[in-house]
Amino acid sequence: MYTTLAPVLAEAQRVGYTVGAFNAHNLEMVPPMIAAARDIGAPIVIQTSPGTARYVGMKNLVAVCRSMAEDEIVDVVLHLDHATSLTDIRDAIDAGYSSVMFDGSSRPFAENVAASRRVIEFAREKGVSVEVEIGTIGGTEEGISVAHGQLTQPEEAAAFVEQVQADALAVSIGTHHGSYKGKTAIDLDLLQRIHEAVPTPLVVHGGTGVDEADYTALTARGVRKFNVGTELIVAWTRAAKRTFGATEDHTSLRNNIVPANDAVAEVVRRKAGLFLGSTPVAQAA
Ligand SMILES: [Zn+2]
Repeated sequence: MYTTLAPVLAEAQRVGYTVGAFNAHNLEMVPPMIAAARDIGAPIVIQTSPGTARYVGMKNLVAVCRSMAEDEIVDVVLHLDHATSLTDIRDAIDAGYSSVMFDGSSRPFAENVAASRRVIEFAREKGVSVEVEIGTIGGTEEGISVAHGQLTQPEEAAAFVEQVQADALAVSIGTHHGSYKGKTAIDLDLLQRIHEAVPTPLVVHGGTGVDEADYTALTARGVRKFNVGTELIVAWTRAAKRTFGATEDHTSLRNNIVPANDAVAEVVRRKAGLFLGSTPVAQAA
């Protein structure tokens, strides 16, 4: 079913698991990502940055997600990730995205509250879910760098949520966008305090660097949406370099691209399985 974020997270909350949100970077990788989630019975959030959304075309992304969600036994949410512009949000909703993130985290608190409220008011009218953010997540995404993230303070999160009733709240607990080589030290104690302070389902960004052994602890502390982006780029690119570098120029493109899509599907299958509560097994480097 093509659905919004709210019921998918509510179900995860009720049963006690986390939903994988995977960034698509081109249109090719979307069908294998959805098929991977279907194969293990997990719901999936396909998310795109505003940049990717413009590159692929918002309506094209909606059409693919919608048709697969309607034909296959899988719940699919199409989510706009890290939108800072209200125009991007309006365009995505008009195109048929079922969920959006408004990222006002770099604005002063009062402005983040005011703008987030406007987005929620606009989105609710159209039956679309909204994720907001308090605290800032460091790292680089889409070429935009935030040198040092500002960890989310539980009191500030509580004050924010009192005024902003969103469907999901992104928090900063030590993860970084774009990191994939080292393992991230996440602050589980801080996450626990945020979880106790706010009822909203929590979202972890920059998830690629998080140790898979920590997933259970995150789920237990209210994380209902977990974003994976960088690992998908790395998997796709590595496979594509191998195939493109090894084949003749006139080889069917399928021979080069299918292995890259398969690599992405494998990441989704593995991560989504762990988010449902599977036990991690050692993974080859
Ligand atoms: Zn993010």
